[in-house]
Amino acid sequence: MLALHGTGVSDGIAIGKAYVLQRDLPEIPEYTIAHHQVETEIERLARAADAARRQLHTIRDHIPANAPAEASSFLDAHLLILDDKMLIPTAAETVRRERRNAEWALKGQSDRLSETFEKMDDAYLRNKRIDVNQVVERVLRNLLMPGFEEHLKVEPGEIVVATDLTPADTVMFKHQQVRAFVTSLGGPISHTAILARSLGIPAIVSVHNATRYVRPGEELIVDGKRGVLVVGPDKRLIAEYRRRQREIAREKRELNRLRLSPAVTRDRHTVRLMANIELPADVKAAVQSGAQGIGLYRTEFLFMNRPAAPDEEEQYRAYTKVVRAMRRKPVTIRTLDLGADKQVDGGQGARPVAVNPALGLRAVRLCLHDTSLFRPQLRAILRASAHGSVRMMIPMLSSQEELFRVLALVDETKSELKRAGEKFNPRIPLGGMIEVPAAAISADLFAPYLDFFSIGTNDLIQYTLAIDRVDDAVNYLYDPLHPSVLRLVAMTIQAGRRARIPVAMCGEMAGDPRYTRLLLGLGLNEFSMHPATLLEVKKIVRGSRLAALRKFAGRMLRLRDTQTVHDHVDRLNTEED
Ligand code: PEP
Ligand code: MG
Repeated sequence: MLALHGTGVSDGIAIGKAYVLQRDLPEIPEYTIAHHQVETEIERLARAADAARRQLHTIRDHIPANAPAEASSFLDAHLLILDDKMLIPTAAETVRRERRNAEWALKGQSDRLSETFEKMDDAYLRNKRIDVNQVVERVLRNLLMPGFEEHLKVEPGEIVVATDLTPADTVMFKHQQVRAFVTSLGGPISHTAILARSLGIPAIVSVHNATRYVRPGEELIVDGKRGVLVVGPDKRLIAEYRRRQREIAREKRELNRLRLSPAVTRDRHTVRLMANIELPADVKAAVQSGAQGIGLYRTEFLFMNRPAAPDEEEQYRAYTKVVRAMRRKPVTIRTLDLGADKQVDGGQGARPVAVNPALGLRAVRLCLHDTSLFRPQLRAILRASAHGSVRMMIPMLSSQEELFRVLALVDETKSELKRAGEKFNPRIPLGGMIEVPAAAISADLFAPYLDFFSIGTNDLIQYTLAIDRVDDAVNYLYDPLHPSVLRLVAMTIQAGRRARIPVAMCGEMAGDPRYTRLLLGLGLNEFSMHPATLLEVKKIVRGSRLAALRKFAGRMLRLRDTQTVHDHVDRLNTEED
């Protein structure tokens, strides 16, 4: 029995068998083979290509029915590449002619093809390079790691243990009923951690060397609250954890009674509790949690795990589905926030990864840089606004100029739609995310042009404290109660109040019950979070008195050191009301 420690990022207890996801491709060996080995080597290459073909078919069979229609089209593209004579047969020819091992011959051929694609003028064809690389990597994996299994073969109920998971992986796992996630890397506000929370399954990140200590199929206990992973537990410990699981289930049932109760404090102040979603399928959980609307719809997830971006029609259908399902409750559609750790293809993209991707072309910057991506989305969101109460929200604003360019594009799109006789809400509320310190500090300058603010604490903390949200080495610095963060949150709420526009929060801080009372005291009246914690937050709201919290929050902002802030918040959370 072995206990490994990490950072718990999603509460709950899971007991199950390990599925160890080995991703790292070993180095490509290069060696010469003897004459008599040539045919065997070519056969080895053919067998690896066959295995890759089988895996691609299996993945296609596993794509959930509710995944975007085009989600499987990349598999067809990969199968075509795999069967192209420029790939395997040409590599086999090199094995025969130069008497080199199969891996080396295949890698060489793939490099040559990549170079050819790179030189093409047509962006679509240039992008084909990524597909070729992905196919080659799959065949190489089968050559170098025979028996390697595609992660989509995870069985329901298994616990995924990996070095790291991209948001694109996690969204795939979402459909496979995995019981928990454990990763060696990653931080509490990485998008992978956020997805685990939204799934409502336990997760621990930053468990160093997890994939080294855990063997496939081994029994595991994941304690997401304490951040503990037990490898090979004995019977007594399993029984103890099962008891705790039952207790948690009982508490959950009790919380469920609050589903239809209003989110109102004891002194009758009402707040709005909204849900964050990643895909249209998440609306179900949002509705079940009793959310009063969607406070953040992360549309970029519609763009992942596929070769080409969804077109306007597909986006329109996805957004309308959410809007209809929410039945006139507000739906806040955030425009694309791709870049940084949210790469469309899990990081194997055409664009070279910037040295500091979180500070690079991300979110609204990327959209303004490439309006061919942005315009169809604006049209789709505007058209969806004809079907309910839609709000549009812009991520990562950092300067007024950016906002003005967005506003001009929105106006232009409205005129286009009007000319084309398309229906939309001409007064669709437009909000800005306050998640870059520059925006928080100058929130008063943004306010006159916006209908609401939403504070994105995940990025606001990342950028204020200069800690990469996916870097486990600096996890320990992550602190929503850092005085600088609290000041920026308070400034934004104030700026909103002065300009008479509502201020929401949709970062993870809003869904963490430890901060509910403090945020109420600071004057926040809209909280948006993953549905899994909504009822817990509601319980705290209903047990609090706003008048007392306001006084407390004022004092908190004057405190000078972080430890005292923590002690005060702990005390506040254990007081009667
Ligand atoms: C945030 O930054 O707080 C936020 C809500 O956006 P995301 O986590 O998607 O970056
Ligand atoms: Mg953000």
